[in-house]
Amino acid sequence: MTDAPTLERAYRVRLSPKPAQARVLSRLFGARRWVWNWALREKDAAWRADGTKLSGIDLSRRYTALRQAPETAWLATLPREPFNQTLRDFDTAWRNFFGGRAKRPRRRKFGTVQSARFTLDQRRTGLVVIDDRHGSVQLDGIGRVRFRVTAPMPGRLRSVTVSRDGAGRWFACFTADGVPTLAGAPATVPSIGVDLGLKDTAALSTGEIIVAPKHLSHHQKRLRRYQRHSVRQRDAAARRQGLDPARPFPKGTRVEVSNRMRRTKAAIGRLNTRIADARRDHHHQLTARLVAGAQVICIEDLAVKAMARSMGRRAFRRSVGDAGLGEIRRQLAYKAAWRGRVVSIVGRFYPSSKTCGACGQVHAGLRLKDRRWVCPACGANHHRDLNAAKNIEREGLRLLAAVSGRPERTRRSRGSDARGEHACAIGVSSPAGQPSSWNRELDYRAATPRPTRQRRDGPPPRVEG
Ligand SMILES: [Zn+2]
Repeated sequence: MTDAPTLERAYRVRLSPKPAQARVLSRLFGARRWVWNWALREKDAAWRADGTKLSGIDLSRRYTALRQAPETAWLATLPREPFNQTLRDFDTAWRNFFGGRAKRPRRRKFGTVQSARFTLDQRRTGLVVIDDRHGSVQLDGIGRVRFRVTAPMPGRLRSVTVSRDGAGRWFACFTADGVPTLAGAPATVPSIGVDLGLKDTAALSTGEIIVAPKHLSHHQKRLRRYQRHSVRQRDAAARRQGLDPARPFPKGTRVEVSNRMRRTKAAIGRLNTRIADARRDHHHQLTARLVAGAQVICIEDLAVKAMARSMGRRAFRRSVGDAGLGEIRRQLAYKAAWRGRVVSIVGRFYPSSKTCGACGQVHAGLRLKDRRWVCPACGANHHRDLNAAKNIEREGLRLLAAVSGRPERTRRSRGSDARGEHACAIGVSSPAGQPSSWNRELDYRAATPRPTRQRRDGPPPRVEG
């Protein structure tokens, strides 16, 4: 174990497989889907026959037999490693189901599996070669595949996931450990509060509001139009076959796919990837800026999934999901760790919008549509989101101080410097590579004596139906 703090991270690069390699990769994706569905059938059949619960090891053995069987020998022409991953994922999916954390694993439909993971054997040298602008990775059964290098990739590369997106572009996502941190770069402000709004906006306690790039909403409008086209074309095709598009089709019916429908589908795929790209870019710019500028970044714990679930109206639910709050938090966490910054998470029951930043009065009657409001107690005039951002900053700093006052809650407290302590507890991952529980360390309820609603640890256990 070395003294210098290191962490894990991932690098996503654009991959350029040769046509023959692309064909093998496509077959591999399809075969991974096939093996998943095969495993599902095996497990079901064994359970129905005599109540046998097939374990991951049982399935792995059966899979080996499958590769040797003459009628499924085609499997043996593909590399084994990505299928081990499939079977591991399958096992995890069932474990999550039995643990009440996920739904029952389902059949994978055609075209839904578009990735394959390969471990990079650390005993072999030269698997990944990187020169100035280009690199290549040796994949079992595929050969050497080239990729573009846009930034340095420090650390030890452990695995690579090859994928294809809706626009037909190929990517490789490398995971690395032992990546040295960039701690020590000075910040321009000691702390900043961020109020993440819907529609990809972010209000900063410095008084600034960051809006998503215009082309994002432009693409979204176009996407909705294409989706309407797609539905209309499918309905028209159904009518041509004598079906009623307003009713569910009889099982096994296949609607003839016209070239026009294919073109619309392709356009939708391209637009979706553009939207995802624009959004990812926007999020990266935002988080990079926050982490570069401030030593302590205070942000709200919105429990994105719970919020999206509980919201009844579909449009609102979509905008919550769209804003990618979870993704912003994920990026903040790893970038903060990388730079030695601190992320302080304010609990989701803290009334950041309703609290007056000037006098501390909680204005319970504030409605969601009130963009500006005047405090009934002190008369201060507030911009809703900027006021929230300032409150989040204040509360985040208060939490940091409160938690550092209780050294037993921080796992590795060294010395009396509150910030240093939390940089250890939150900012930098543990030597074993396990990310420290940065959101739990600073749980709002943990530091506040006030009683709040109890959070459940997970969804209630499901009853198998
Ligand atoms: Zn006030």
